[in-house]
Amino acid sequence: AKRVITTEFTEEDSKLEGSLRPQMLSDYIGQVKVKENLKIYIEAAKQRKETLDHVLLFGPPGLGKTTLAGIIANEMGVNIKITSGPVIEKPGEMAAILNNLQEGDVLFVDEIHRLNRQVEELLYPAMEDFVIDIVIGKGASAKSIRLDLPKFTLVGATTRAGMLTPPLRDRFGVVNRMDFYTIEELKTIILRSAEVIRVEIEEEGALELARRSRGTPRLANRLLKRVRDFAQVKYDGRITKEVAGFALDLLEVDKLGLDHIDREILVTMIEKFGGGPVGIEAVATTIGEDVGTIEEVYEPYLVQNGLILRTPRGRVASELAYQHMGLRMD
Ligand code: ADP
Repeated sequence: AKRVITTEFTEEDSKLEGSLRPQMLSDYIGQVKVKENLKIYIEAAKQRKETLDHVLLFGPPGLGKTTLAGIIANEMGVNIKITSGPVIEKPGEMAAILNNLQEGDVLFVDEIHRLNRQVEELLYPAMEDFVIDIVIGKGASAKSIRLDLPKFTLVGATTRAGMLTPPLRDRFGVVNRMDFYTIEELKTIILRSAEVIRVEIEEEGALELARRSRGTPRLANRLLKRVRDFAQVKYDGRITKEVAGFALDLLEVDKLGLDHIDREILVTMIEKFGGGPVGIEAVATTIGEDVGTIEEVYEPYLVQNGLILRTPRGRVASELAYQHMGLRMD
């Protein structure tokens, strides 16, 4: 079933991607620490006329990692090639991509933790010394030859840094964690997007959307589009607080931006496991969702908002979770 709330990239997103994506660091809202950090590295690299060191970005989906990779390329004045871990099956495919880069280019590898081992191993010398070793021929006559590559910047993205093997992680000079956006930041993003897609929106309407976007720009943009349709068909096209609230209720996005899976996680923890402590695997199994998805997509937001507490003995539903779900703690 199609879910509005998914933070994964969908077809619908792609229609607006180009225009909604900020192009330069100065248009990129939020992630202040990441931006400051990158700004310095970019400036230093440009002054020295060198390529930027490899950059690892980690954090939940939809927080702007791909966007940032594009911005890095723009700021450095180079091209960007985009690929992803699961797409590259053979070392030869990676070798071809690397070999076709131009000096200074950015190679963005999304879901970099999902590269298979042989492909990953090819990256080690490529990242470190800008060379790859390729084997020609088979058996006794096989020869390994070393190929020089253009200097490039690898920008890797992953949902959790801990999923990378240490040798790969160690080869990134710049490691940045992306945080959920604040409501104010999301509001700014929504107002900007509304201008781009030419929809009238009141500050209060933007604020209501921001509150319910679970800290995620991708979701904020998607909800904006849904609410716009709603405002157009049912009202006079203008997004007010009421219109936004009404539409989001219909979309089953609640006041904290939780969707039905978030709520199911909380209810399961409370009703089936007495509020915890409980292991995340047990919760995932009970509601029939993938453990990885729960850990990387759902849980971080619930933890960030104090609905789930992480303790050494497992996850615990907080008092706020009981309140939010309208359940009694006993
Ligand atoms: P990720 O690669 O982390 O999954 P994306 O870079 O694809 O996320 O961003 C998702 C959407 O959110 C894009 O459409 C982009 O326009 C928007 N977005 C992300 N970060 C920002 C930001 N800091 N300011 C404005 N829009 C943003």
